[in-house]
Amino acid sequence: MRFSRSFIPTTKEAPKEATLPSHIYLTRAGFITQVSAGLYDLMPLGKRVLDKVRNVVKEELDKAGCEEVILPFVTPMELWEESGRASKMGQELLRIKDRKNGDFVLSPTNEEAMVDLVRGRITSYKNLPLNLYQINTKFRDEARPRFGLMRGREFLMKDGYSFHKDTEDMVREFNLIKDTYSKIFTRLGLDFRIVDADSGAIGGSGSKEFMVLADSGEDTIVVCSQCEYAANLEAAVRTPKKYEFEIGVEEEVHTPNTKTIEEVSNFLNISKEQTIKAVVKKALCDEEDKVVVFFVRGSDELEETKATNAAGANELVDISEEEMEKAGIVAGYVGGNDLEVEAYYDNELNDGNCYVIGANKADYHIKNFKVPEGVTFKDLNAVQEGDICSCCGKELIYKKGIEVGHIFQLGTKYSESLGANFLDENGKSRAFVMGTYGIGVSRLLAAIIEQHHDDRGCIWTEESAPYAVSIIVGNSKNEQQREAGEKIYKELQGIGVEVIIDDRKDRFGFKMKDFELIGFPKGIIVGKNIEDGIVEIVDRKTGEKTEVKLEEVCQQF
Ligand code: ATP
Ligand code: MG
Repeated sequence: MRFSRSFIPTTKEAPKEATLPSHIYLTRAGFITQVSAGLYDLMPLGKRVLDKVRNVVKEELDKAGCEEVILPFVTPMELWEESGRASKMGQELLRIKDRKNGDFVLSPTNEEAMVDLVRGRITSYKNLPLNLYQINTKFRDEARPRFGLMRGREFLMKDGYSFHKDTEDMVREFNLIKDTYSKIFTRLGLDFRIVDADSGAIGGSGSKEFMVLADSGEDTIVVCSQCEYAANLEAAVRTPKKYEFEIGVEEEVHTPNTKTIEEVSNFLNISKEQTIKAVVKKALCDEEDKVVVFFVRGSDELEETKATNAAGANELVDISEEEMEKAGIVAGYVGGNDLEVEAYYDNELNDGNCYVIGANKADYHIKNFKVPEGVTFKDLNAVQEGDICSCCGKELIYKKGIEVGHIFQLGTKYSESLGANFLDENGKSRAFVMGTYGIGVSRLLAAIIEQHHDDRGCIWTEESAPYAVSIIVGNSKNEQQREAGEKIYKELQGIGVEVIIDDRKDRFGFKMKDFELIGFPKGIIVGKNIEDGIVEIVDRKTGEKTEVKLEEVCQQF
């Protein structure tokens, strides 16, 4: 490709709202441009990188025996009603009507549609297993689309679904896909961690996320300083903390103006650990919304995803003081006794200790409160840095990650609700056991740049680069330089190297700046030295320049 003929609108200005290097550089270097919140044009270089990433994903999946299909981006609402998700999906699901008043949605994910494709067509265990995937547009009307391609509303996802006769075979496939994803992200040059992830209401350990380590990541991951343990904060566990407080008789104490843990522990001169913190939320559920109280130790924080699962809710939202009052809850003094709403206690409070907790009465707390028998205990606490690893006993630390992939042991959730069955070896009808596997293909462009950039711009990795090398003609008006550049260009093309030539009539310094901003892995500078038959090869990452004889340039690639 020739720069002079291509559409690569590089600019000095970054979008106002852009804070992440990937967002800034992908825009400034002419890869992407925003059309509307969370909607992006991919310009030619962006499309090339996307195709590169897509190909790596496809190659590895095909090698693992998966098959690519493509389903409509628009799916009938009926399928979502059949699975029961129509009512569960909140505002992220964009619902549309066609001219006949039919209801459709823009696919945010495709479990239903994929099950619909297979049901009735695969009828025997003999045709299992099966792993189908697509690399297709998704739409999620995200509350806060931001960070460029990182969190778009319309984006490209690889979504795969596998069908099995039993759980054992599904787990085998799950592990195969885990290895396959590792190959994909390694080929793309990413430093990533596979972490335990939230499995939603289903629970268990059948969910892993692939996290690209980057300070800008939106996810907090908990890793062990010693062993291999790594989990999303949403699913992370620790060795339970142990305390022994003095046992006493339960009593009500007057604690005016002590609505926070800080205030009450100061007032009573006790440690925060010795108090119980109540977090009140409104739980949005399939049936009826409800008010729920979660209790954790005063020194802990509530982990919201864990809490959502505990309450069997789709989402937890904040609750106003009026709503609390209506539910008979006294803000700042919420206690375990005489509570009229659903309540969950963190597992670690099941330790026989005496705590200070609200008295459900303004300005009063209960001292020596022992969590009564018969309450529901759940894992609710958010692991903190410095907590102890439950695998090896060493300290846990936090890292930030960008979720680029998610694999999930789904089981029969969708095959059952959609009536997708097959006949097993004994002629018995069973629902498919399923796995689902996603990769954020367009998000990967941003993730690669978050890990591979410097203060001049992007530094594409070998398998993701839009072109492997750019020939920079120092002075396009100089015939000798121009001709040498053209010669190298043709030769490299001849040996199948992906090459672009910067044959624009601009100044050398300007072209070098673009080279660095765009981030081609290598450059070949054809400058004054050509008089002696010499060109320079520059490495974008290290900045290192090597002089090479004109005749020997192509041997370097
Ligand atoms: P997140 O927690 O980041 O919102 P998710 O858990 O909702 O993601 P999945 O449903 O697991 O995402 O989707 C599979 C993959 O699609 C994710 O691992 C992620 O890489 C990508 N993805 C999800 N939402 C977006 C988005 N809004 N923009 C770009 N990529 C996305
Ligand atoms: Mg996910």
